[in-house]
Amino acid sequence: MSLNLDVEKVPLESIPAIKRYLHSKGYTAKVILDDVAFERISNLVTGDKRYQLTPLSELRYMEGLLDLPLGYIEEFGFIPSDETRICVCGRVPSALDVVHTALAHGIHSKTLLRDTIYGNENIFEMSSSGREFACLSCGNRHLMAVYHHKRNYMYA
Ligand SMILES: [Zn+2]
Repeated sequence: MSLNLDVEKVPLESIPAIKRYLHSKGYTAKVILDDVAFERISNLVTGDKRYQLTPLSELRYMEGLLDLPLGYIEEFGFIPSDETRICVCGRVPSALDVVHTALAHGIHSKTLLRDTIYGNENIFEMSSSGREFACLSCGNRHLMAVYHHKRNYMYA
């Protein structure tokens, strides 16, 4: 069952406001949204000035990691936590580093990640303090505030 958010009743002007609303309705971690609700929240994320895109070459790498068809992921953006923009090694971490960490450290199975991105449900995973990950180049630890697969998944 996907949730639809009544535009008249739900505060949809910011991610924190939407999360407060969803928490008040008993959704604490993950909610499946209908297309309209997902797109509205998605637009808030992609409209944020801090939103950055994972480079195309790294999307191809991610598809390889997850056994997805080549070119399947069109856009996978992210918003770093403030101190995460550039790693000490010089790499700019992206959504790839988060996915790679989840696989390498067994936080999520490849099947779960693949099914999430390949699936038909619009998933909004509500963050509390951000997602910790390891830099793909050097392993240094960072925090990602938001990551967002444009078609159907976001962590925010
Ligand atoms: Zn690094």
